[in-house]
Amino acid sequence: MPCELEHSAAVAPAFVINRTKNNSIQTVSSIQSNAGPAPYHAAVREIPAFSDNYIWMLDNGDGSACVVDPGDAGPVQSALTSSGLALAAILITHHHFDHVGGLARLKESWGCQVYGPHNPGIAGIDHALEDGDRVRIGRFDFEVIAVPGHTLDHIAFYAADEEPPLLFCGDTMFAAGCGRLFEGTAQQMHRSLGRLAELPAETGVYCAHEYTLANLEFALAADPENRSLRERRDRERARRDAGTPTVPSTVGLELETNPFLRSGEPSVVAGLQRSGRLASATDPVTAFAALRAWKDQF
Ligand SMILES: [Zn+2]
Repeated sequence: MPCELEHSAAVAPAFVINRTKNNSIQTVSSIQSNAGPAPYHAAVREIPAFSDNYIWMLDNGDGSACVVDPGDAGPVQSALTSSGLALAAILITHHHFDHVGGLARLKESWGCQVYGPHNPGIAGIDHALEDGDRVRIGRFDFEVIAVPGHTLDHIAFYAADEEPPLLFCGDTMFAAGCGRLFEGTAQQMHRSLGRLAELPAETGVYCAHEYTLANLEFALAADPENRSLRERRDRERARRDAGTPTVPSTVGLELETNPFLRSGEPSVVAGLQRSGRLASATDPVTAFAALRAWKDQF
């Protein structure tokens, strides 16, 4: 099981790396494509869980897999069995139960390594990560990006070398939305989203929930003149009608259509002012806070 952590504290690698690069992406018959306008990455598939969660499973290309945010062990075990993969590692973005609920059972079953936030409140983390740390799991080389806001411990995993690059951002950036501010401030979340927005436009955004249609209804209320948004709403509705996930998205599409990445845009600010939620032209963080408060009661 090839896993390695490059940590600022120089933790010894748990396993020897046998990493294959992008030129040896393996097509595995059990891996289903996310066909459609979203970026296709042959080694990533979604595992639906609960009512609207996605647990992401990555095929390491060597007979092993890692999963991101396994809130429930059962669906992961089924996906591993059907694909014939062994679980080598678990990545955790934050402490909420629907992201960590299956951790203990999976770790017990597979003896896998668990990588996650520096939060003692999450039982079972083997490698506590901080902003800027690097994690290698099989063929995947992740950079850790701290994204406080939804929770204070929230981190994202970004694989720049993949084609397209991969971003696993938990409950920070959703398709056409963002996570609620349970622990952090609007300023923290605005900064966190800003960091994700700076990633290459083609980066695949793998969030943890299928909230897209509801998010788009709000986005249209907040940014009604945005033509890309209306087109996206129609496209995503068709995908849901066909039973297809609307994620992953891309950073580029989010920049065009996600109001929480566009809180400084004149059209969004004007919408906030028209609805009486913003007194006058102001800074993007204040506009972001007003937007988030509006969505909380939308
Ligand atoms: Zn959460």
